[in-house]
Amino acid sequence: MSKVASKNHTIKSPNIASDTSIKSEEYQKPEPKIRCTICNKKTGINYFECNCSTEKKFCSNHRLSHTHFCTYDKKAVQREKLIVENPIVKNSQFERLD
Ligand SMILES: [Zn+2]
Ligand SMILES: [Zn+2]
Repeated sequence: MSKVASKNHTIKSPNIASDTSIKSEEYQKPEPKIRCTICNKKTGINYFECNCSTEKKFCSNHRLSHTHFCTYDKKAVQREKLIVENPIVKNSQFERLD
């Protein structure tokens, strides 16, 4: 009879292996002092980035392209926005000043 060493054969599951390995205690850092590039408001970790610049950080008010003078491809951004947010294009109202 040949012994099958099935007892020592452990199957390592990636889920189990990484279950308790990550501890964030050592990585606790003070909240980064990130400010909005436009209004200088503290955003902390809740900042927004835009495709126009990887260095600029924006608050929730200035994350949209038209609020931070975005230099990214505006047409592409607006096209995505229209699709995502609202397919209805509003007619802008112009007040004529004589
Ligand atoms: Zn801002
Ligand atoms: Zn932008």
